[in-house]
Amino acid sequence: MYLEDLKLPFLTTEHQLLRQSIRDFAKKELIDGALERDEKNDINETVRLFKKLNQLDVLGIRIPEKYGGAGADMYSELILMEELGYADASVALTTLIHTGAAAAVIYEMAPEELKQKYLPKVATGEKILAFAMTESDVPGSWSSYMQTSARLDGDHYVLNGTKVFITNATIADLFVVFARTNPEEKGHKGIGIFLVEKDFPGISTAEEPSFGDGAGSWGSVFFDNCRVPKENLIKDGPTAFAEAMRLFNYERMENPSICNGIAQRALDETISFLSQRKEPKKGLPFTKAYQHVQFKLAEMYARIRASRLMVWHACFLAENGHPFVKEVSSAKFFANETVRWVCEQALQLHGGYGFSKSFIVQKLLRDGFFGGIAGGTLEALKDRTARELLK
Ligand SMILES: Cc1cc2nc3c(=O)[nH]c(=O)nc-3n(C[C@H](O)[C@H](O)[C@H](O)COP(=O)(O)OP(=O)(O)OC[C@H]3O[C@@H](n4cnc5c(N)ncnc54)[C@H](O)[C@@H]3O)c2cc1C
Repeated sequence: MYLEDLKLPFLTTEHQLLRQSIRDFAKKELIDGALERDEKNDINETVRLFKKLNQLDVLGIRIPEKYGGAGADMYSELILMEELGYADASVALTTLIHTGAAAAVIYEMAPEELKQKYLPKVATGEKILAFAMTESDVPGSWSSYMQTSARLDGDHYVLNGTKVFITNATIADLFVVFARTNPEEKGHKGIGIFLVEKDFPGISTAEEPSFGDGAGSWGSVFFDNCRVPKENLIKDGPTAFAEAMRLFNYERMENPSICNGIAQRALDETISFLSQRKEPKKGLPFTKAYQHVQFKLAEMYARIRASRLMVWHACFLAENGHPFVKEVSSAKFFANETVRWVCEQALQLHGGYGFSKSFIVQKLLRDGFFGGIAGGTLEALKDRTARELLK
């Protein structure tokens, strides 16, 4: 069935054409090999396919045109995330970080020279981005207490510390790195943001084996007296961290859009499987034989639809300058829980085949788990929603 056209009034013919072009690409390049890439942990192939997306002009989808991007709106970004999530979560996650969180910090916050120097290569995928904030000893929801330090030494900052759970860690060419520039200030006011090239002296990375998203890169980034030229400071000062976190609210639409894509794939796989699975007495397919199956499929459909509408509405609010934090936070945790629930039903409805590595539903279940941890756990997002609700 694919992701249904929701016929939302703010979506144009261009948006439809964009969706179609990504879907055509995904059918040709991504869908068939996703399970095999996952099995083989084939990160190189994921990178190759990610770079190939440049032919659709989407790797700088929201980067302003004057820096080589497509200058498109947030709706276009969500279309990209939904379609890639449906086709292959590994390519989707690589793209999410590249086009979303990391790119936005650069084009919204960096000095002009940095934008001109780096963004054109980001927009074509020649340089892959990563976003390095999380640290092992600092819980994610307390990330403003980070310990990675940046000390000014002449014309360079010297970075020391370790970042963990970083998407694209071993494939990125450029890292957007958060580090403490003011050791006197413990919280968010003493944090600077840097753009660090993978070849700067003192930076190294390591892959971390993961539960889901097998063909994607995820791991640690180490800074050992890493020397970063002063010009590569994106922003420092008491508001830099808070500004980046405001941008992060947009990432909180991309993550659930991938989840919704994965969930729709799980539903489609289940319908296709159960339409062919027959009870032997009358030869009826399970989709016709059992009301339990029909009810389950209807519930899966309804939850995915609700989840998508929540995300799209939050996006509409954001694009039109309305407050959207409560809406995006609740949409994210709802989508994060929806994909887990839908994929669990899909696996159960596949019977023994659901448990088999030859079928994709087990991969969808593992991949779908990412959403409720990355980009703020679903518990943190419930907390945020409640705080907004009770203001
Ligand atoms: C697939 C994936 C990709 C990621 N990519 C990146 C990336 O590119 N860059 C990056 O910087 N980080 C990335 N992360 C890290 C991610 O942002 C953190 O793992 C996340 O913020 C949670 O932080 P933590 O692991 O320290 O868990 P903790 O914060 O220690 O949380 C542990 C548990 O306690 C719960 N908890 C914590 N605080 C509260 C509270 N106040 N109320 C209720 N429950 C609470 C959490 O919800 C969670 O269930 C990624 C993680 C994953 C899984």
